[in-house]
Amino acid sequence: MTYIIGENCVDTKDMSCQSVCPVDCIHEVEKMLVIDPDECIDCGACEPECPVDAILPEDAIPDEWQPFVKINYAFKDGKDAVNGLVAAYVEETGLDPDRTIE
Ligand code: SF4
Ligand code: SF4
Repeated sequence: MTYIIGENCVDTKDMSCQSVCPVDCIHEVEKMLVIDPDECIDCGACEPECPVDAILPEDAIPDEWQPFVKINYAFKDGKDAVNGLVAAYVEETGLDPDRTIE
């Protein structure tokens, strides 16, 4: 099991989560941050730090955020792989960079 960063991080990148991770497995890519599932020790420290509730345990990711499971797992293939999947998601969903996240 791992934690996954989802859609609310895209274009938000508040960075609060990164400093609390004890194993430094939260990485910045172009439009968001992702968790390296191979390194995450499932401690949960990052989840409450996110001001936009972007971080969830993998088994709690809602259906509409399922593409982000693949996006976080793509970190093992390099940041370009992650950036490509995020760009495809943004194009497919028409995600507004100026959207308001409640
Ligand atoms: S705290 Fe939330 S919005 Fe900020 S970088 Fe981490 S996951 Fe993204
Ligand atoms: S659950 Fe823990 S180990 Fe995994 S990304 Fe969050 S802070 Fe890091």
